[in-house]
Amino acid sequence: MNESQLCFIGAGNMARSLIGGLLADGFPADRIRASDPDAGQREAVAQRFGVQVFADNAEALAGAHVLILAVKPQGLAALARELAPQLDAANPLLISVAAGIRASDLDRWLGGNRPLVRCMPNTPALVQSGATALYATAAVNDAQRNLAESILRAVGLTLWVEDETQMDAVTALSGSGPAYFFLMIEAMQQAGTDLGLPADTARLLALQTAFGAARMALESEDPPGRLRERVTSPGGTTERALAALEDGGFRALVARAMQAAQARSRELA
Ligand code: NAD
Repeated sequence: MNESQLCFIGAGNMARSLIGGLLADGFPADRIRASDPDAGQREAVAQRFGVQVFADNAEALAGAHVLILAVKPQGLAALARELAPQLDAANPLLISVAAGIRASDLDRWLGGNRPLVRCMPNTPALVQSGATALYATAAVNDAQRNLAESILRAVGLTLWVEDETQMDAVTALSGSGPAYFFLMIEAMQQAGTDLGLPADTARLLALQTAFGAARMALESEDPPGRLRERVTSPGGTTERALAALEDGGFRALVARAMQAAQARSRELA
């Protein structure tokens, strides 16, 4: 992938996370370009990463093997129609990180039959701990699949879905998922304070417990259910707490939340 010339169209948060991750992985800065109409965004990216920046998309994409479309979803149709006539000769791989925009729609705006990878990253990508699902159109070859995967791997875990409709479930799970965990952390922090802990102590204990549990589950060969059983002694405190969660319908509530997110994702597409 070090031979490839990458061009980011849009130099906002997601582009910056990806560029930061790629450079940390050893990808050379002189093979990355970025374009953005906003001078402040261009300056921020140029100063922080030392990559070449452009106000004009056409100038930025000349010679690029991969275009990463990192603008807001509502701006993507106009951008794609602007780019379409400039892609014909080079036919670069296009990677869209826009939430909720179907590959088939984007492909149509781009003129049809483009090598196109649609990604659904999540916000922990900003700290290189994201989870990204990727979907490729039929025009994407194996080398391009590997390339797309290695770019997104710079900001965390990647995996492929072969059926694009699964992206709505991905959105409900990992796309919106960070907010569910933030809510859980908030609730645990508040409850800890109500039980008599200083707010800062409750906050730090809640955060580190979430981090530790996730790390332990990621590093363990055992499924989370087994890890849970192992910390639940009969007659102990954890058993009492988990019984209260199960009585309150915790699992059904999580399922309902994710069904609602999936339905909304379908409506928005
Ligand atoms: P952002 O607003 O930080 O960045 C978008 C940038 O695009 C801005 O700097 C804007 O000036 C620029 N832009 C607008 N129109 C342009 C054009 N025609 N040509 C070139 N640049 C243009 O947004 P973001 O948070 O980086 O999100 C970008 C995309 O990433 C979105 O589609 C979003 O759905 C997706 N995404 C972001 C996150 C996240 O964690 N931020 C997570 C998942 C998906």
